[in-house]
Amino acid sequence: MIRNIWAVGRNYAEHAKELGNDVPTEPLIFLKAGSCASFAADTIELPQGKHELHHEVELALELDQNLQIARAGIALDLTDREKQNILKAKGQPWTLAKSFKGACPLSSFFEINDFRELQNLDISLTVNGVVKQQGHTSQMIFSIEKLTHFILENFPVQPGDLILTGTPSGVGPLKRGDHVEAEISGKIRHSWQVR
Ligand code: ZN
Repeated sequence: MIRNIWAVGRNYAEHAKELGNDVPTEPLIFLKAGSCASFAADTIELPQGKHELHHEVELALELDQNLQIARAGIALDLTDREKQNILKAKGQPWTLAKSFKGACPLSSFFEINDFRELQNLDISLTVNGVVKQQGHTSQMIFSIEKLTHFILENFPVQPGDLILTGTPSGVGPLKRGDHVEAEISGKIRHSWQVR
């Protein structure tokens, strides 16, 4: 069971810019509750009363008993952008916009053979067959090594926790009826129907 999902904001410069944010000088970490995660489901259920959520496709890392990165997969860091913008303007925490029920759809995960390959992966997302996000893990501002070190140093990380490594540019809305497909090239692909 996943206890905690440690996520990083603005870890790709182009994405920081598209939301009008400065590029950070230390990792901007926020928490999604572990109970937001759903492994390899076929559907994304929009919360009642919501017409859209933003997709953020991310490389997700799973920590083993020794708090080493053991497996990797795709996470959708679903975000209520409208709510987040209101919270940001008030200087309030993002929890309402980031940690609601179903806020972290995941693909299945793959074993990592060589740690270095994690920093050399294409990651992409399409909505209804149209490419929306396309990035490469080499574009991260804080490398996986730095990010993991920072999180382990600052937080009570537990075995089985996930680290989300940030999203490339191209975030945008998901609505009911959309078909979403995310891929880490050569490793894993997963699709969801939004309901
Ligand atoms: Zn994100």
